[in-house]
Amino acid sequence: MPKRDYYEVLGVAKTASPDEIKQAYRKLARQYHPDVAKENPKAAEEKFKEISEAYEVLADEQKRRHYDQLGFSGVETDFGPGGFTWQNFTHVGDLEDLLGASPLFRQFFGGFGFPTEGGGPSRIARGSDVELTIRLPLAAAVRGAHPTIEVPRSTPCSDCQGTGARGGTAFETCPECHGQGQVRRVQNRGFTQLLTIGQCPRCHGTGRRILEKCPTCRGTGRLNSVERIEVAVPPGVEDGAVLRIPGHGMAAGSGGRSGDLYVQVEFEPSATLRREGQDAYAETTVPLSTALLGGEVTVATIEGHANLKIPAGTQPETPFRLRGEGFPRFRGSSRGDLIITVHIEIPRSLSGHERDLVREALGAGPRATTGKREPIWRRRSS
Ligand SMILES: [Zn+2]
Ligand SMILES: [Zn+2]
Repeated sequence: MPKRDYYEVLGVAKTASPDEIKQAYRKLARQYHPDVAKENPKAAEEKFKEISEAYEVLADEQKRRHYDQLGFSGVETDFGPGGFTWQNFTHVGDLEDLLGASPLFRQFFGGFGFPTEGGGPSRIARGSDVELTIRLPLAAAVRGAHPTIEVPRSTPCSDCQGTGARGGTAFETCPECHGQGQVRRVQNRGFTQLLTIGQCPRCHGTGRRILEKCPTCRGTGRLNSVERIEVAVPPGVEDGAVLRIPGHGMAAGSGGRSGDLYVQVEFEPSATLRREGQDAYAETTVPLSTALLGGEVTVATIEGHANLKIPAGTQPETPFRLRGEGFPRFRGSSRGDLIITVHIEIPRSLSGHERDLVREALGAGPRATTGKREPIWRRRSS
């Protein structure tokens, strides 16, 4: 998008007085602020940014003079390498009375780490996110669960209003950055200038120099605590799924939005069950007699036990399907199946009497003369 002339953006004459510029900006800000421009907030934000950049330059006597003399190149170094950002805007105080009461306004600016009072020490910044992992029994994947977890929190110290200074007053404006919290460095590289903007090393971006530390928080401005939160894990959650709990991360500075809490769900590995999507897989071993004659065995399911009917003549490795004993679909009502592979236990040795009975019933194999097991080559050769 080609840049438009700043005077044109604000709709004022080149000879406009500072008051006229301010009035023009306020009028446009009212028009483009996010409460009004709900249909197309993205376009409104672009527009708002454009008028704010123009105002940032024209409201400042020196910047305006540079712009009048050299055009955009006269003010380039006032902003970061990528051009104007909300970090460069120092006149939000001119809007507070206009838009400050609107929560949308705060939300609108909240994401930019935007200074609230014309670059003053308090900043609207978003708190950091917190990530935790919880481990649940496999049955929770079917029924859901409501575990209570302990989340480390950092909240602003109330004794110093988060400033870290005794009583919230024992500080002065940082002499290095003059309260901006950031410093700009211009490096000359041959014919080009490199502008870098970084956090002020002296005050670490707070814009303040603490004269006397708050004894409650030892000057950090924050207090660590633990918050207990009940997490609703819905049925059907996959292993490794991440639940987002908005607003339960770290607290932000004054006026800012807290970060979010991300909870990763892990299920305890089961010794008997394997999960594949909505289906569960298990194995069981039945005695030869059960496979031959039929019967019933008890098998472990996700939540407990079930009886599995084994029909007479069941072959080794036959899969049986228990419908609806698998895992539920996330946010759905249907459940997968439990598939059980049946192994058959062949006795390793038989008594002589048992041999005779098997031989009689199944009519197989040569008669053994001794109780000893005979080598295979002999059996083959006979
Ligand atoms: Zn500083
Ligand atoms: Zn404190």
